[in-house]
Amino acid sequence: MVQYNYDLFVIGAGSGGIRTARMASGYGARVAIAEERYLGGTCVNVGCVPKKLLVYASQFKDHFQAAAGFGWTVGESTFNWSSLIANKNQEIERLHAVYGNQLQKSGVNIITGNAKLLDAHTVVVDGVHYSAKHIVIATGGWPSVPDMPGKQHTVTSNEMFFLDQLPKSIVIAGGGYIAVEFAGILNSFGVDTTLCHRGHKLLRGFDEDIRDFLGNEMIRKGVNVLLNTDIEAIESAADTFVARLIDGRKINTDMVMYATGRTPNSAGLGLEALGVELDGAGAIKINADYQTTVPSIYALGDVTNRVNLTPVALAEGMALVSNLYGDQSKPVDYDNIPTAVFCQPNIGTVGLTEAQAREKYPDIDIYKTRFTPMKNTLSGIDEKALIKMVVVRSTDRVVGIHMVGPDAAEIIQGMAVAIRAGATKAVFDSTIGVHPTAAEELVTLREKC
Ligand code: FAD
Repeated sequence: MVQYNYDLFVIGAGSGGIRTARMASGYGARVAIAEERYLGGTCVNVGCVPKKLLVYASQFKDHFQAAAGFGWTVGESTFNWSSLIANKNQEIERLHAVYGNQLQKSGVNIITGNAKLLDAHTVVVDGVHYSAKHIVIATGGWPSVPDMPGKQHTVTSNEMFFLDQLPKSIVIAGGGYIAVEFAGILNSFGVDTTLCHRGHKLLRGFDEDIRDFLGNEMIRKGVNVLLNTDIEAIESAADTFVARLIDGRKINTDMVMYATGRTPNSAGLGLEALGVELDGAGAIKINADYQTTVPSIYALGDVTNRVNLTPVALAEGMALVSNLYGDQSKPVDYDNIPTAVFCQPNIGTVGLTEAQAREKYPDIDIYKTRFTPMKNTLSGIDEKALIKMVVVRSTDRVVGIHMVGPDAAEIIQGMAVAIRAGATKAVFDSTIGVHPTAAEELVTLREKC
């Protein structure tokens, strides 16, 4: 029998890789994980975690403003970007230590360096060869900036988390969740923020009402939203830049950030030579068991470019490990994955949009409410909330819930459980509300639109 150094070799210690390695080790497999940059991957270092910390930081401006309506006199407030970034970095260092300890305690061998595949069972890191029965590629993705004159003047989300100082003004290219989240953060910090998107609305793929509502809220909060346009070139002008748009407009700005897409990290791994197939965007092709076109090599998470979210990468890792070492398979259900956008106000969404539901079912009922969150009454903050529910009339099943408003991201998790459990509108209606909350609106939706 062939003797391998390891049962499983994981490339990439991000969300998916760490979960895969720890779980496999828990089943008694001999596991190694290679990481070239930072433990925790995108989510911990340049994604979900630092992003949410910046969102919290940026919300204090509104909180201070709101305080007066509740009888508080708040002294002059100032904001120090450097101390926020230093504190954020410290928290991430703490998480690095937590992940390192967890892996070590699980018995996973951590190998630092860039990993490449040599053959179907061999990985090489810094010239050292490691053989493994199975190899998992969990190398994630990387921001991509389109080729154009002045591309060298751009930054991406990666750099935004480490800026020495905030710019006075910024142009953000993109209309997806990373673009709108950063626009919200920077605008709240007082940066003169322009969002430049080539589509006719922000957040493609989200429910149309949510897209309209969020677009208007962002404009109302002071973001300069430019739709149906794009940057064609960036010129440097003394200490600043000029972003030249395709419609002839020119915007003077301190910084240009691109959030127009991410590319799977598949280049340089030696995949093509081994016969591991990629799609046109560089994503690794896999079957339902996360197996690539080379049977001993698996791939999961963002490098497969399907649903690029941390909880999905975690679930895929667990499904793969239970397939390889467990006694029963735990396949990932890709339907009804809840998701949030941490823009201001938050978006929380699960299930079908109205348009998707109308394509799938002939009889759809829509329930909608717009309201002023209670906190905004005394605060004087003119920010509304929206809740929308999509119901199939013939079965009474709730197939989609979409929210914009304070705590939408927190509320939607419970709604995802209800939808996955097959809750009907009647179940929502017979559920007693929690009063006074925004979430109670979900059980008091009476009027069909
Ligand atoms: P990653 O976490 O990217 O990990 C891949 C790891 O592999 C990296 O550490 C990398 O250094 C390493 N690696 C790559 N190549 C090699 C090699 N050859 N050798 C050794 N190591 C290698 N998701 C959410 O669910 N919620 C959010 O709020 C959210 N916010 C986000 C905000 C931003 C700005 C971004 C960019 C992403 C966000 N995401 C969010 C997405 C989430 O971060 C990813 O879906 C998740 O990190 C994917 O995990 P992964 O394991 O596939 O890859």
